[in-house]
Amino acid sequence: MIRVYIAENLADAHLVCNRIRENGIAAHVFNEFSNGAVGELPFTHTWPEVWVEKDQDEDNALAVVNECQLAQGVDSESACPECGQLNPVNFEICWSCSTQLVAD
Ligand SMILES: [Zn+2]
Repeated sequence: MIRVYIAENLADAHLVCNRIRENGIAAHVFNEFSNGAVGELPFTHTWPEVWVEKDQDEDNALAVVNECQLAQGVDSESACPECGQLNPVNFEICWSCSTQLVAD
C-alpha cells in the first residue's frame, strides 16, 4: 500500500480515487471519517488520502493524480444530472454515482 494523494476534501479524494480505478489500479480513500487518527504522528491531519494497493502502481497513479489536478485547475463545476453532486467540468463520470456526465 502506498499513498499517492492527500485531498483537500472528501469529494476531491473520491474524484482522484475513481480516476485511478478507471486506469485499472486498485485504490482506496482513507481518513474518510475524521474521527481518530491513525497512529500518533505529530502532524497527523484528518484530510482524506488516496492509497493504491500495489506499490508498483505508484507511478501510474501519480500520473492520474497530476491529470486530476490539472483538470481541477479549471475553476468551474457542473452538477450531476443524476445525484446533483458537483463535478469539475472536465470529468466525464460523476465521482459520486458514476453517471456519465454530459459534455457540451
Ligand atoms: Zn452523480
